Amino acid sequence: MQGPSLWDAILAEIEKRIRRQQFHTWFRRIGVTDATAERLCLSVPNRFHKEWLESYYSSVIKESSAAVTGKSPEIELVVALSEGASAKAQPDEPGESGDPAPEEPSGRFTFSPIQTFDNFVVGPANRLSHAAAIAVVEAPGRAYNPLFIHGGVGLGKTHLLHAACQAFLAKHLRSRLLYTSCEEFVNDFVSAVQGGTVASLRARMRDLDFLVIDDIHFLARAERTQEEFFHTFNSLYNAHKQIILSSDSPPAEIPSLEERLVSRFKWGLVARIDAPTYETRLAIVRSKAALRGVDVPADVAEFIARNVTTNIRELEGALTRAVGYAALSNRPLNLALAHEALQDVLSSRPLVSIEDIARVVATRYNVKLSDLQGKRRSKSIALPRQVCMHIARRLTEYSLEEIGGFFGGRDHTTVMYADEKIAGLLKSDATLRAAVSEIQSSLTRPSARP
Ligand code: ADP
Ligand code: MG
Repeated sequence: MQGPSLWDAILAEIEKRIRRQQFHTWFRRIGVTDATAERLCLSVPNRFHKEWLESYYSSVIKESSAAVTGKSPEIELVVALSEGASAKAQPDEPGESGDPAPEEPSGRFTFSPIQTFDNFVVGPANRLSHAAAIAVVEAPGRAYNPLFIHGGVGLGKTHLLHAACQAFLAKHLRSRLLYTSCEEFVNDFVSAVQGGTVASLRARMRDLDFLVIDDIHFLARAERTQEEFFHTFNSLYNAHKQIILSSDSPPAEIPSLEERLVSRFKWGLVARIDAPTYETRLAIVRSKAALRGVDVPADVAEFIARNVTTNIRELEGALTRAVGYAALSNRPLNLALAHEALQDVLSSRPLVSIEDIARVVATRYNVKLSDLQGKRRSKSIALPRQVCMHIARRLTEYSLEEIGGFFGGRDHTTVMYADEKIAGLLKSDATLRAAVSEIQSSLTRPSARP
């Protein structure tokens, strides 16, 4: 046995050894250029994929090959097509043979196989953005145009944008997609002005089917680029081409963004991503562990999810730290080790209790603590109480039942309702948004610790 059938047999062995999600993410897109009992030459879509396989899966590939061939073949991974130096890379999958390589910006980009819809954990804080991103891939230019996703750092905006691009490209092989960071877009425009090539940049931009610009808030202060983007936007919009934008704040709050752009950014759907709840954080820790092929005991996953509440990038960082610490010290990953590995993360982060939240909210809204915990349901008490519940869902590890219990023995559905209601209000009510973010930051500042 050799060639593709040998590789298929090896793949079947690999599939037995790792989890489905890992297999799907890392092995589905591998091609085989040469497979014998002595040598296995595999082609992978991009450099990132290659490095990931080398770091995490070389022993699985070796074991599985040995199980099939009885020998240990030499393994070589090659990147299918050479990558360009910038994010605007070459095709990451070879087209059908004979296809002319598509021209930039219709060229393909190197997207990470992790940043897909499959690997995106959905929870109450990102459900709308996720559903909207899927909808625009299903019905580009028709579902929501533009789709504007905003939220704080590390909450998954770029992940969703990459996922949408990858899903779109999988469905529409020949379409013209451009994914770019706003910073890069501004730079491209500035160099085009300097080099006298604005016309060709403009022509390329306006000939797209799917335009995705990450971190559009970088347009602030880039006046000429705003002007240019305004015309590109109109031209794509009028041709029913899909536009997706991400930003750290809602359109109206991007400083010095022209009013006509602010209003256009609101034409489609403006979706906000909030900080994840405890349950989502836990699911993300599990998912990231599975992708790396590491077993994380339940109490360790819970410990990380409980203690790293700010954003998902830090959550991942904490997992990486714990796993790395176990490997370096050659000890099993258990709760005691996780405590040790994450010591400084924990000491710089105050533990927030429900009482702390109630106290800060009571002061801010000028109500009595006992009222928050009491039965009264007048609006002046109910709103701050709901704010408490919403914040408790984000900053603490308490369950719905425990939170309800603290606030006058209310049941878990009341807490869920309160949380969703406030999350909904935050989308439209800037005053409430400012109040909640101020309360949250005062609670998480180290000095807020008792
Ligand atoms: P942002 O662009 O909002 O700053 P990113 O998209 O870069 O954030 O996300 C930071 C990290 O968190 C990435 O590694 C991303 O894969 C991960 N991440 C964010 N949201 C999720 C999610 N819902 N499920 C799984 N991973 C996520
Ligand atoms: Mg980002």
